[in-house]
Amino acid sequence: MGQWIRDFTEGNMLQKDLLGGKGANLAEMTSLGLPVPPGFTITTEACRAFLTEGELPDGLLEELTEAIGRLEAAMGRGLGDRDDPLLVSVRSGAKFSMPGMMETVLNIGLNDRSVEGLARTSGSDRFALDCYRRLMQMYGSTVLGMDSDGFAAELDAAKSQAGVAADVDLDSDSLRGLLSAYERLTLEHSGTVFPQDPQAQLVAAVLAVFSSWNTERARLYRRRERIPEDLGTAVNVQVMVYGNRGTSSGSGVCFTRDPATGRRGVYGDYLENAQGEDVVSGIRNTIPLTELGAIDKPSYDELIEVMANLENHYRDLCDIEFTVEEGRLWILQTRVGKRTPEAAFRLAHAMAKEGMIGADEALRRVTGAQLALVMFPRFDPDSQRSLLTTGIGASPGAAVGRIALDSATAAAWAAEGESVILLRKETTPDDLPGMVAAHGVLTSRGGKTSHAAVVARGMGRTCVCGAEALEVDLAERHVLVRGGEVQAEGQVISIDGSTGEVFAGSVPVTDSVVVRHLEGADDIGAESGGDLVEAVGFVLDHADDVRRLGVRANADTADDAARARRFGAAGIGLCRTEHMFLGERRELVERLILAEGAAEQEAALARLLPLQRADFTEILEAMDGLPVTIRLIDPPLHEFLPDQTDLAVQVALEDDRGQEDLRNHQLLEAVRRLHEQNPMLGLRGVRLGIVVPGLFAMQTRAVVEAAADRLAAGGDPRPEIMIPLVATVNELALVRSGVESVVASVLEERGVHLAVPVGTMIEVPRAAVTAGQIAEAADFFSFGTNDLTQMTWGFSRDDVEAAFFSAYLEQGVFPVSPFESLDVEGVGSLVETAMRGGREAKPDLHAGVCGEHGGDPDSIHFFDQVGLDYVSCSPFRVPVARLESGRATLAHRSSQ
Ligand code: PEP
Ligand code: MG
Repeated sequence: MGQWIRDFTEGNMLQKDLLGGKGANLAEMTSLGLPVPPGFTITTEACRAFLTEGELPDGLLEELTEAIGRLEAAMGRGLGDRDDPLLVSVRSGAKFSMPGMMETVLNIGLNDRSVEGLARTSGSDRFALDCYRRLMQMYGSTVLGMDSDGFAAELDAAKSQAGVAADVDLDSDSLRGLLSAYERLTLEHSGTVFPQDPQAQLVAAVLAVFSSWNTERARLYRRRERIPEDLGTAVNVQVMVYGNRGTSSGSGVCFTRDPATGRRGVYGDYLENAQGEDVVSGIRNTIPLTELGAIDKPSYDELIEVMANLENHYRDLCDIEFTVEEGRLWILQTRVGKRTPEAAFRLAHAMAKEGMIGADEALRRVTGAQLALVMFPRFDPDSQRSLLTTGIGASPGAAVGRIALDSATAAAWAAEGESVILLRKETTPDDLPGMVAAHGVLTSRGGKTSHAAVVARGMGRTCVCGAEALEVDLAERHVLVRGGEVQAEGQVISIDGSTGEVFAGSVPVTDSVVVRHLEGADDIGAESGGDLVEAVGFVLDHADDVRRLGVRANADTADDAARARRFGAAGIGLCRTEHMFLGERRELVERLILAEGAAEQEAALARLLPLQRADFTEILEAMDGLPVTIRLIDPPLHEFLPDQTDLAVQVALEDDRGQEDLRNHQLLEAVRRLHEQNPMLGLRGVRLGIVVPGLFAMQTRAVVEAAADRLAAGGDPRPEIMIPLVATVNELALVRSGVESVVASVLEERGVHLAVPVGTMIEVPRAAVTAGQIAEAADFFSFGTNDLTQMTWGFSRDDVEAAFFSAYLEQGVFPVSPFESLDVEGVGSLVETAMRGGREAKPDLHAGVCGEHGGDPDSIHFFDQVGLDYVSCSPFRVPVARLESGRATLAHRSSQ
């Protein structure tokens, strides 16, 4: 075993850190005795050493020579030998699959002499020349950094000169001409000739693969997929086998079950007389794998057996690349296959039912993000629609947007807030920015395994591939449908990633079956996704069984509360009372602000009281028997007043016209008086409760009166009162005593008993730091991580995301917005500090989170770890939070 290189016979599937995913699986398959062409893996450690030092680590070249020597001895052929050359492939393979992001060079070892040897041993001039031109092409673009379009143009020219449509129809003479053209191109563009020394080709290819870790597109992909930057890639060097040796050869990709739906069956694409790269690039259209059964039954049967073996061995959906070389099957790669979100649920459920995995493992195999995707809307089946064409449904969902014909246009329009469908003949890794920006991706070529399909599925983008009726005309910036109807760039289309349908115009969308089920629909048949509903239910039930965290919802209307309850919320963690001061009620807030003297103020509050009471009664009814945390008013009062400029203009106009309005003058004066430069840091929350007498008292009275009404109606109300924006225990102690005396007097007036806990939000850094003191005056804590993030980072939550977060994300300051996923190191450390302080003071202090992070999968894992009792999030995210809380328990268990 060398320091930098491992033969395939030396590793196993657990060594993904060292050997990369591809290398580890090649080693595993080798040890299973599957027909894997021999080879070796240069480790990720070697790549990391190269990336740090800028040169190959000491000893690597010597080990490479020895490893090639072992391959030569095993195969009885020499690398690049003039008579019977050994040829190898050089492929990248990082720990996490990064489809199409990094480099591959095939047919290393061919040169002007060995190509003749290959022609003789293979008995085909054409084949040998075709291999050589592929090497030059891949070497040129990968190693020498040449634009692949130049090669493609020469290939097209050669085809049109020979009068053939497909590259496989080029004869030897045409290929010789093409080779000369490639040589010329290489010299012109790179200033060097194509190297004839096989060893030099090999080393240059290894270097190119290492370097490809840092290409722009690879970095972008990693940022999106949150793959660490410092992993590096392994390089797999493997004896070439050929799918392009005539019609008894071919290459394909297959899945042990359908990666789009998760259902059983034989799924894959096959391309006769082709190398693997041809299958995924979408250059020629593939045939369904089942047709291989008719072309070459023994190879097909053997493949089906290999598929079953691999699925049983990995206990998961496997994605396999294979080549048939003159009737002999070779397995080139396998990995646990990427899948659509709905397939993930069906697979987890089916494999658990089949006894292949346990329920815990089924839960580990799906994520909250996937659940969110299956809860996405779909096209309304009853809507009028005009079908343009049907392609292959490659990644489910319903996307509506304007056609953008290239990646840059898609990205530019999306940046302006447009919804965009990126429509390409086929996508390449260079299209990644457009795919990221677009709502959906549509291609006219390629199948379920094309680049577009694989990448879109990975990102959860809706994607339709291989819509062959579409002809993209980039010069005219339009698309012809079956050569007739024209769709111009910018026109709106709708694509269905499940059925592959493409519609003209905008099709209305409806809720997902999962959402319909959660909402109580019981008419969902198997055809319309009943099996998906069942699978999601199975996993959610198990998550509910294992999770420690409670899940509540942020809801401030009875409708939202009722929905949250249907979605499985065990109460309300945050009922914001702000909306209760909006709409027609604004006028009452104005009266409150303009009130002169206590009597006027009390009168204004008295008018608000019944309205608030009615709001709370409805919510308590919808959440009967479950806790409802009602937060007293948080935003500054002036937010409920008219805009200062608008009002000033109105007053000036009125004055001009001689229609002076005293009330508007007073209002304007109040707006000016209450104006704040930094309202987020101004008179809001508990501060308002302290300086505007009667406001908190009125709200508290409304809560308790509502609860008393519910008790009288035989209900089981469980209100909790929460004070926002507390920074010191003194603020809380002050308002708490006011709140408690109102609670006591209302209970006495109504002659009822009810415990009404009074707690606080922890959303100001000072509160987190002094949580031990604050806990003395609080029955519970609820972390307001929106404000806590805002105040910890000093980021205005209303401004910065649009202002500069894209630059921060692009330049890697952080991988994800701290408003979206909790900044564990910074804000998280404050949460931890507060939990420690709070629980030291009060060991049974109840604690939850009600910031947006309460519905974010990664953040939920953190909240579980630091011992919160519950998370609270928007009703729609409640199922996601239930699922992730269950997963967090499992992750926590396995790390103990
Ligand atoms: C918070 O700050 O996290 C919070 C839940 O309160 P709001 O978003 O209403 O400020
Ligand atoms: Mg807040």
